[in-house]
Amino acid sequence: MYKISEIVQILHPSRTFITDLNSLVQQLFYDSRKIVQADNGIFFALQKNRDGHRYIKEAYDKGVRNFVLEIDEGQEIEFPDANLLWVDNSLSAMQELATFHRKKFEYPVIGITGSNGKTIVKEWLFQLMSSEYKIYRSPKSYNSQLGVALSLWGLSEQYTLAIIEAGISEKGEMIRLESMIKPTIGILTNIGVAHKAGFASKEEKIYEKIGLFKDAETMIFPNSYLENIQLPYRPRKFSWGFDEGLSLEVYSIKQVNDKLTRVTFYYNGRTFAIEIPFVDKGNVENAISCVAVMLRFGYDSEVIASRIRELQPVAMRLELKKGKKNSSIIDDSYSNDLDALQIALEFLNQQGQHPFKLLILSDIPGVGIHDEKSLSKLKRLLGEYRLDRLVLIGEVLPKLADQFDVASVSYPDTIAFLADIRSFSFENSTILLKGGREYHFERISKLLVAKSHDTVLEINLNALENNLNVYRQLLPKHVKLMTMVKAFSYGSGSFEVANLLQFNRVDYLTVAFADEGVDLRGGGITLPIVVMSPDESSFESIVQYNLEPEIYSFRILFAFLNFLKTRNISSFPIHIKVDTGMHRLGFMPGEIDRLIHVLHGDTVLQVKSVFSHLASAGNERDNEFTERQISLLEEFTKRLEDGIGYSFLRHIAATSGIELWPKGYFDMVRLGIGLYGIDVERHDLPIREASTLKTNVTQIKCLQASETVGYNRHGVLHRDSKIATIKIGYADGYDRRFGNGVGKMLVNGFLVPTIGDICMDMCMLDVTDIDVSEEDEVIVYPDIKLAAKSIGTIPYELLTSISQRVKRVYFYE
Ligand SMILES: *Cc1c(COP(=O)(O)O)cnc(C)c1O
Repeated sequence: MYKISEIVQILHPSRTFITDLNSLVQQLFYDSRKIVQADNGIFFALQKNRDGHRYIKEAYDKGVRNFVLEIDEGQEIEFPDANLLWVDNSLSAMQELATFHRKKFEYPVIGITGSNGKTIVKEWLFQLMSSEYKIYRSPKSYNSQLGVALSLWGLSEQYTLAIIEAGISEKGEMIRLESMIKPTIGILTNIGVAHKAGFASKEEKIYEKIGLFKDAETMIFPNSYLENIQLPYRPRKFSWGFDEGLSLEVYSIKQVNDKLTRVTFYYNGRTFAIEIPFVDKGNVENAISCVAVMLRFGYDSEVIASRIRELQPVAMRLELKKGKKNSSIIDDSYSNDLDALQIALEFLNQQGQHPFKLLILSDIPGVGIHDEKSLSKLKRLLGEYRLDRLVLIGEVLPKLADQFDVASVSYPDTIAFLADIRSFSFENSTILLKGGREYHFERISKLLVAKSHDTVLEINLNALENNLNVYRQLLPKHVKLMTMVKAFSYGSGSFEVANLLQFNRVDYLTVAFADEGVDLRGGGITLPIVVMSPDESSFESIVQYNLEPEIYSFRILFAFLNFLKTRNISSFPIHIKVDTGMHRLGFMPGEIDRLIHVLHGDTVLQVKSVFSHLASAGNERDNEFTERQISLLEEFTKRLEDGIGYSFLRHIAATSGIELWPKGYFDMVRLGIGLYGIDVERHDLPIREASTLKTNVTQIKCLQASETVGYNRHGVLHRDSKIATIKIGYADGYDRRFGNGVGKMLVNGFLVPTIGDICMDMCMLDVTDIDVSEEDEVIVYPDIKLAAKSIGTIPYELLTSISQRVKRVYFYE
């Protein structure tokens, strides 16, 4: 804890407004949504994707009384009992604070960087060295400018070793991370081709990365990546690789079976072998990095061998799945400690789809009866996140049950819980599963998750968030954002995606039909929801569920007016659609006078927005047409505004409009396909595909030339062939036109064609030329644009055709 007076000394703010010099600071906040308990917190208004200054009030209302601000607008008038510190840059200020805090600790700090494997090496070192050291490590993959500052803030006296990740994406970033982390030991995992955008050359990227080791005592690295590179002078070099004369020489790497790799080393005049329980190149490399670190720490090769043998895979994702009986399951098998628990509880807290929240928690190593500090942290966490119920599994936590502020039941082990699981009602609940590996919570998950066949659509929530922010950054501050979640969010889910958008504070959601809106309301969505194609039969639910209809013709306008009048409703929000050239739905520009006549003086309706849709924003040859659409909307809205005497929002741009037509932003834009990361016009935007359709191989057959595969015997074999049957067919949304080689899927890194006609629930792939086993994973659309093109359609159609029987799995990396 720091006193605010100390923080003032550390940060040298350009101006302060201090009302309580003794105010204590322990928690760093930068996101007002994540504040649950504000005690001893300080809020940094960062200028990230959104300007943090807009959320000071929200943080204040939640109880925060210490603030670091960049923009001086005399906020002391509005917050007369807060401590306010104005600085040049809030992020730098947070970093200075982290730097100061870091310097208080003398124990070794390991800094890890590299293109891949940082998190895995960090987690493995934790698994490998925890018996000797009390290890602090960066939570999850917190390795950015902000993430590192937050990570370092968690250092405390109770630890004896820290492991901190450092990740960069452009030149100049590592210097800042290095000066915060000041690692005593540096690890380079590898250098890949990822993230090359921010660097002029591979060399530049390498020099930037090894900048982390500038003042370290030792740097540990795979030699092959740093040949011909001038290494920083100071650190002792601990290199490993195949060449002679390296600190740790690798003699041989042999795959023993499909689960084990044997590596022989030469170190300090001795040879020894280690068996790594992984076979892929990346993980073998990661494990060797760990061997090197352990040697540097003086571990005996036999101890190293026995521990490496027991390495566990690192679960990097937190998954959200649909459960049975209207429940959702959050499956988080990421490390079992209090920091990870807090992150998972935050995620649970974001989920608004069900009324009840339940946590199933196993014992956490280090949280015990005699450890007051971590126990009180656990108590605080369980109290902060309003849980409805708690299931405790293990030997330690059940004994402490009466100290927690939640109704709980306890079981000595997972088996005992499973035996009793029928006595629970999980209906209408979001259930967080958080258990140590040895508790095998995957058994619980299997019972709770709704069954389905093995074809899944995986939706990467980080990618969705990323894409949202990419488009947000294109928009001037005053432009609002409507996001399209019609057609089951372009195939990727309903309330799961909507919840994420709501959490990220978009301004509006839009669906095609009232039913979709009703579902979203049932899933805890409170944002305004626009319904694009309402009909008379849906007016009842529109009113009941507080949805806002698009009004596109006089017929629907009068019908809705009459409906509202019979209910005595006034000022009901509507959105007027104008046809400026798309010629789908909408009032024609010539109908404006009559529209004004109807709406002028009317109190039953309130026009919230007036909008149109661009027909060809992505086609340069139609630029004039697009210009005309924009100016038609401009004229129409001007006249309507004059005619009805009040103002409303105007909008016309969808994804391609957002990318290419800033003059069409008006007051709001409507983001659709870009959010999901596909089929966009501009290629310079760092958006990512959010969904991946996956299935797996059910059976493999070896057949002779001239035999045929599938219905109608269309798949004729011209050579002896190996054929894989996979579990996806046209009933899943895999178009029949993909049959007979038109469709290509990715199996074990290779593209393979379909063979024969696509069946209803299955289809066949020609895997003659590749290595493949039954149950191997298959990526159905390795390139969804190309796939769409090959059957004469667009990615929108492929995505929205993926049938509802395909399970959606949401995850956070
Ligand atoms: C679907 C739709 C959008 C979104 O279009 P994208 O190309 O997916 O961004 C916007 N406005 C209207 C009226 C739509 O129907």
